[in-house]
Amino acid sequence: MKLDFFKKIKNRIYDTCAKRGYTCDACKAELFDYPTHRLCEECESKLRLNNGRSCEKCGRMTLAEGVCLSCKSRLPRFHRAYSPFVYRGESASFINRIKTGNPTLALYFAEKMADCLIERFDGIEDFAEGGEELMVIPVPLTEERLRLRGYNQAWLLADRVCKRLTEKGYCAKLYEDVLQKTRDTAQQKHMDYVSRLENVAGAYHVHDRKACRGRTIVLVDDIMTTGATGSECASRLQSADAAKVLFLVGAALPERK
Ligand SMILES: [Zn+2]
Ligand SMILES: [Zn+2]
Repeated sequence: MKLDFFKKIKNRIYDTCAKRGYTCDACKAELFDYPTHRLCEECESKLRLNNGRSCEKCGRMTLAEGVCLSCKSRLPRFHRAYSPFVYRGESASFINRIKTGNPTLALYFAEKMADCLIERFDGIEDFAEGGEELMVIPVPLTEERLRLRGYNQAWLLADRVCKRLTEKGYCAKLYEDVLQKTRDTAQQKHMDYVSRLENVAGAYHVHDRKACRGRTIVLVDDIMTTGATGSECASRLQSADAAKVLFLVGAALPERK
């Protein structure tokens, strides 16, 4: 069965990630307190935290009060988005390396993402141990893309986000097959928000609609640029009666001035 084959590949990558140690995940410098710290001080100091003023809806860095201009002109379908880092400079190049040859970096980003959700999501107490379960869903790739890359970076992040939430006393479970991508979409790099929305429209499909009913979902991806992918996936999940979709990414592009 194809899915079993992919699961094996993913597990193998994850095992390799977990077994590494005592060196910085980015530059391989010696690190004696790994994995308490996964990056050395120098690497970590290059990353730009998204901890200043941010949009109340999409969470991106903005100078505007309240909601950013992009959300004002077209409100995304997710409830809220959260990102620990700004997608710019070294933060951008570090996070891009997850999908271009250094999947181990997913562990560092995922832990920061889980911590960011715990810190910023108002309703997190409802999901403390013994409470409701957060449903963690990675933004999927098509099977063809998955075959080409060998792994889905969003899955690596979602898996570790889930484990971190559990370690911190919250109830969370990974649902990797609930949302599927049914067709490939064009490269979005040079598209504006509206073209991106058109590009992703209808590309995602909720495979298990019953599983989503009334649930709070944490949709996980590596990067948010315009938010079109997150918005489209959230809209699919909401049409399957999800109660709330939170979009959790490693880094978000700041609002352009
Ligand atoms: Zn380093
Ligand atoms: Zn916004």
